[in-house]
Amino acid sequence: MDIVLSKENELIRQSLREFAAREIAPKAAEYDRSREFPFENFRKCAEMNLTGMMVSESQGGAGMDTISYVLAIEELSRVCASTGVIISVNNSLYCHPVEKFAREEIKKNLLAPFARGEKIGCFGLSEPDAGSDPSNMRTTAVRDGDHYLLNGSKIFVTNGLGADAAVVFAVTDATSRHKGISAFVVEKGNSGFRIGKQERKLGITCSGSVEIIMEDCKIPATQLLGKEGEGFKIAMNTLDGGRIGIAAQAVGIARGALEESTRYSQERKQFGKKISDFQAIQFMLADMATEVDAARLLTYRAAWKKDQGERYSLEAAMAKLFASEVAMRATTKGIQIFGGYGYMNDYPMERFFRDAKVTEIYEGTSEIQRIVIASHLLKD
Ligand SMILES: Cc1cc2nc3c(=O)[nH]c(=O)nc-3n(C[C@H](O)[C@H](O)[C@H](O)COP(=O)(O)OP(=O)(O)OC[C@H]3O[C@@H](n4cnc5c(N)ncnc54)[C@H](O)[C@@H]3O)c2cc1C
Repeated sequence: MDIVLSKENELIRQSLREFAAREIAPKAAEYDRSREFPFENFRKCAEMNLTGMMVSESQGGAGMDTISYVLAIEELSRVCASTGVIISVNNSLYCHPVEKFAREEIKKNLLAPFARGEKIGCFGLSEPDAGSDPSNMRTTAVRDGDHYLLNGSKIFVTNGLGADAAVVFAVTDATSRHKGISAFVVEKGNSGFRIGKQERKLGITCSGSVEIIMEDCKIPATQLLGKEGEGFKIAMNTLDGGRIGIAAQAVGIARGALEESTRYSQERKQFGKKISDFQAIQFMLADMATEVDAARLLTYRAAWKKDQGERYSLEAAMAKLFASEVAMRATTKGIQIFGGYGYMNDYPMERFFRDAKVTEIYEGTSEIQRIVIASHLLKD
């Protein structure tokens, strides 16, 4: 495995670091407080070609590799984890399945504008009774001539508030569990499609998490992804790639905690010394730095395997599991290093801490990642 970053990757990283510091960081705390969906950030990311990074150029994307994508999500999440996940969802959970599984004739309208960032995509798999176990979903899709009629709801949909279309999953054959699920693209303008409850959350407060409701929602049959019954497979394939994005988001948050803590520890004085002179603080910083690097390397490995066209479910699960737990540990230590100031929202540390938690939950909880990893170990 060769995971040394290419010159091009290094240039991308440098320019994204500058972009994130200049354009995204200044308003991160304000968006966190207002909880408004950051349309402006999405537009700026589109101008930087970050909204369809791995989509081929012929389909409106940037045609870049997964390593570049990982660098982008880390840099965005370093300063604003909400923006990190918004861009990750558009790339991994919307554009990817549409590019890979949609019929060519719908891509002009339902892929290219999303890859270019003129429109925003989202992904609706979870339902009230179907979280870790999506095969328990209740949403149905019934074929009616040239159309499907969808009925049901999806919850916690990231980007949902600002989205123009969603990749959604529904049961087309109730007699078979996994194999009875199909995937569709549903547009905001399709009749019977509406946004329901908007969630108020602990962290990533402005990522536009909403309920999507479909009542006799009529969509053209051409908006089926793949074939009927392939929805579960499409969801799992999509989440494999999504998990690399969430791992990168977690690395970004953890790095934010490390960098802010390092800086603060050299400014804050107690007992007549900088707190960075105390070995207790040095050891926390050393552990954070080591874990951030380890999490980043696991994330690069998963991205690299994906770029080689190899199977990467195991590597993506490991990267997401480890990086999300690193983000929690690093932000917990970060608050400790900041002391009482870490608990106050004058500093970004409490936001990092709140933002970190969700990386252990969405796109498969840590328990689900462990199940995926163990299943690879135990298969014969
Ligand atoms: C902020 C946010 C954004 C989200 N965005 C999206 C989105 O855009 N699209 C989307 O479709 N979903 C989204 N989700 C949903 C997310 O993917 C689910 O919350 C997650 O998969 C867990 O499902 P659940 O909440 O129903 O928990 P449950 O599945 O009810 O799990 C509860 C607990 O039981 C554990 N558990 C469950 N099954 C097992 C098992 N077999 N073995 C061991 N432990 C188990 C879990 O790990 C967890 O600890 C989002 C969630 C959040 C919080």
